[in-house]
Amino acid sequence: MERDLTGLLFPSSVALIGASPKQGKLGHVMFKNMSTFPGRFYPVNPNHQEIEGVKCYPHVAALPGPVDLAVVVIPPAAALKVVEECGRVGIRNVVLITAGFKEAGPEGASREQRLVEISSKYGLNVLGPNCLGLISTEAGLNATFAPQGALPGSIAFLSQSGAFCTSVLDWARKERLGFSHFVSLGNKAVLNETHFLPPFAADPDTKVIVAYLEGIADGGAFIRTAREVVKSTPIVVLKAGRTEAGARAVSSHTGTLAGSDQAYEAAFHKCGVIRARNVEELFDYAYSLARQPLPRGRRVGVMTNAGGAGVMATDAVEEEGLELARFDEGTAKSLAELLPSAANIYNPVDVLGDAHVDRYRQALKLVMEDPNVDMVVSLSAPTPIISFAELARAVAEAQARTGKPLAVSFMAGELGEEAEGVLRQAGIPSHFDPARAVRALRVLAHYHRVRTRAWEPPRELPVDRGRVRELLGRAVSQDRPRLGLEAMDILAAYGIPVARGAVARTPEEAARVAAELGERVVLKVVSPEISHKSDVGGVLVGVPVGEVEGTAWRLLRQLRDRFPGALLEGVYVQELLPPGREVILGMARDPTFGPLIMFGLGGIHVEVLRDVAFAVAPLSQAEAGELVRSIRGYPILRGVRGEPGVDLDSLAEVVERLSHLAADFPAIAELDVNPLLCYPDRVVAVDLRLTVTGEEGS
Ligand code: ADP
Ligand code: MG
Repeated sequence: MERDLTGLLFPSSVALIGASPKQGKLGHVMFKNMSTFPGRFYPVNPNHQEIEGVKCYPHVAALPGPVDLAVVVIPPAAALKVVEECGRVGIRNVVLITAGFKEAGPEGASREQRLVEISSKYGLNVLGPNCLGLISTEAGLNATFAPQGALPGSIAFLSQSGAFCTSVLDWARKERLGFSHFVSLGNKAVLNETHFLPPFAADPDTKVIVAYLEGIADGGAFIRTAREVVKSTPIVVLKAGRTEAGARAVSSHTGTLAGSDQAYEAAFHKCGVIRARNVEELFDYAYSLARQPLPRGRRVGVMTNAGGAGVMATDAVEEEGLELARFDEGTAKSLAELLPSAANIYNPVDVLGDAHVDRYRQALKLVMEDPNVDMVVSLSAPTPIISFAELARAVAEAQARTGKPLAVSFMAGELGEEAEGVLRQAGIPSHFDPARAVRALRVLAHYHRVRTRAWEPPRELPVDRGRVRELLGRAVSQDRPRLGLEAMDILAAYGIPVARGAVARTPEEAARVAAELGERVVLKVVSPEISHKSDVGGVLVGVPVGEVEGTAWRLLRQLRDRFPGALLEGVYVQELLPPGREVILGMARDPTFGPLIMFGLGGIHVEVLRDVAFAVAPLSQAEAGELVRSIRGYPILRGVRGEPGVDLDSLAEVVERLSHLAADFPAIAELDVNPLLCYPDRVVAVDLRLTVTGEEGS
């Protein structure tokens, strides 16, 4: 799966197929952009001997010596032939700028199919088609038709939108933001986002990978690859657009609640990718991660010369899940000696509006050096005596001395302009809005967490795969895609505790089953056509054993009257369990990332409460525990106000086991265990609904 993209990202010889001397033509814009390449550059065009003094070659086969990368800008039909020629002469890397493929109707789609075949026949790395090209500032190559090139820097950028590429290039120049690599992915016919992650991670000049994506080509490969890459290099993604799950029939709660956005969220969380909500966050995060050191913890020191700014920053620290640092005693003492008595010496430190840079500098030094401070946000409002430029230099010095992350919010406009340049030089994030400055720090703490995560793989658990295969096989051969309680054995085979019970075909049989189960039992209608049993009066809780036969008979008759023609297969007789906490555990399949596990507060109100969380299966033990803890209602499970909590270990293990079931059997399209009853000493599944497709399982 991993490809060698060295020749694409660091070429020493490049050819431009379709180079043109004519002003305004794409082939000429490309020629101009590529002509500054310091390596060997070969324009190709059969109609010209030379272009602007550069020798031109008639076709690919006529090129002297080896070529690392061919950039193709000729029309689509001819482009395909050229790509094949590249394959034949041993050029391994192609950037196909040309449009007119999958994005352009059925004819284009079959052309793209052909392109994929040619690429695999010759083992080509093809970027595009229908893309803006790529820039490698390290190689000195601008193989795009963008009007502006990129400044060198440490951000590797990937984009699925060519237009966004040109916008970013132009804007980034103004912001003096630099790139190591800049890649327009286009249609992703051959190379997709995942292929670029390992080479970017291996590149010492790349500090952060930033991507604008509208979809992910291969969700499984992305998760596996990104999980490795983030150990050394942070990845920030802006995911735009809602991918349609297609016309899949959803019948479970999980299926209803699990949209593609939940799947992306869960997938990014699983592999430690940082998600940006908008363009501003994308580049704010990129900047912080590229230029700032990582904090050791989440404790923030706040420095200000104005109360209001300090309050806003303090709010943001709370909101972003960071902590306001509690200073060391020594720091508080030194601050008290340094500052006027009206100043606040506790976090946030307010040096007051009459402070000049020197007072601010000394206080900042104390805060930055405090062992309980992991990072600092430095704020200032304009005052008659503060010079922002001078203050910026003081801040930069303080950072250089301590090596702790720092972000600035000088709440200034024109007065702060000179300071901006100083801070940019030092790589210190600077924003008017204190909350935005705090977010610039939060992303660092977030990535620090990702890096120090345990990353354990899923456990090997003893399960009975054969039994599940048999039960699913039977459902498929009997053409019964919808299964309910009669399939509880599927859960049991994976070690998930289930309530005792059995299907009874007749009222007499129900009475016999009930006799084994205790004084009182629960009766539930069994019908593939009724999925929410309580809604139709199909669940009777606490029926005395002596009344089971008559009650079962009445239950079936009522439902037959109500649903004439419905297939009523009998009654499920189940042991009566005491009241407990009801949680829902489910699985739906996402078209990109596969089995998505849902966990939340369950029972009949699950879709109203929507207190559910998602994770991509299979889950490790730690991930299962984390999923359980991530819902809002978790304190209820842990126990509140003197009420006992539930058996959290058993609960997490059931989540883990269900995730293994989902990962092992693609034939299970969706599944709900609602509720799983939870008690202080155990958890028990009392209801099941699942949908089976014909796909093969393990
Ligand atoms: P459905 O979801 O189709 O309506 P369930 O089997 O989930 O049917 O039952 C509905 C509710 O009845 C559950 O949420 C639970 O509160 C209660 N219940 C179901 N089975 C039992 C049982 N064995 N013991 C005690 N209460 C139960
Ligand atoms: Mg239920």
